[in-house]
Amino acid sequence: MVHLERRYVFTGRLAFTTALHIGGGTGTLSPSDSPVVRGPDGLPFIPGSSFKGSFRSTVEKLALAAGLRSCGLLPQEGCPGAEGDAQRDLRHQAEEERWTEAKLVTELEQRLCDTCKLFGSVFRSSRIFFDDLPLVEWAGATQIRDGVGIDRDTEKARDRLKYDFEVVPPDAAFSMRVSLENPSTTDLALACIGFSEFVGGFGSLGGKRSRGLGRCELRDLRVFELDLTVTGSERAERLKNYLLGRTLEEKMLERNAADFLDEQIRSLIGG
Ligand SMILES: [Zn+2]
Repeated sequence: MVHLERRYVFTGRLAFTTALHIGGGTGTLSPSDSPVVRGPDGLPFIPGSSFKGSFRSTVEKLALAAGLRSCGLLPQEGCPGAEGDAQRDLRHQAEEERWTEAKLVTELEQRLCDTCKLFGSVFRSSRIFFDDLPLVEWAGATQIRDGVGIDRDTEKARDRLKYDFEVVPPDAAFSMRVSLENPSTTDLALACIGFSEFVGGFGSLGGKRSRGLGRCELRDLRVFELDLTVTGSERAERLKNYLLGRTLEEKMLERNAADFLDEQIRSLIGG
């Protein structure tokens, strides 16, 4: 059982400058070959898992540049988070040597790469959690666009391979909420690298990104902190506010988002 010591909540608006296609909306009334995913209210939304996937690959690209370990979920770097030799070795060794739960935790802490520790792996759950993102601003209707299938043999477009897909038109915005539980300094810094990329407009989401779809910017980022790693009356006060407060503002301490990202990223790369 792990006690809650620190929690961070990041909120903001994910605003799309180009159209967005997140497929998977089967069984809807959409007339399109490839409908967008919709919630029970019939409105398009972004599943938290889709945003997590995009956020993870954004962070993975920069983790290596920042001198950290990141396997990108490919079997390399000796990280057992991805299927491959390192994972087989770890399972084999754990069985042979009859590791205890505590031993396994220690070994994983040493062997897992930095991004597997933050985002989770088959061995350990994620320390970062992505809520589904509801639609908060849009034109009020989706659009249907034509796609063209390419014949693999002739590499030419063929009429019978024509299909269409549904998109949420540009200028839509979705409400974001991401939280971290008991993150290490590296976890928090990696998450801040991801947020910083999305704030800078380098994020993208969904399908057909090679056609320019799914470009977005994170706006109105806010950061809330609960830090119970203090003692005495200060800890009691923070815990009381957290438990009795009804809103994020009442429960947690709001930090200046720009300063917070700056501080965390500097802690990782120095300077
Ligand atoms: Zn890994």
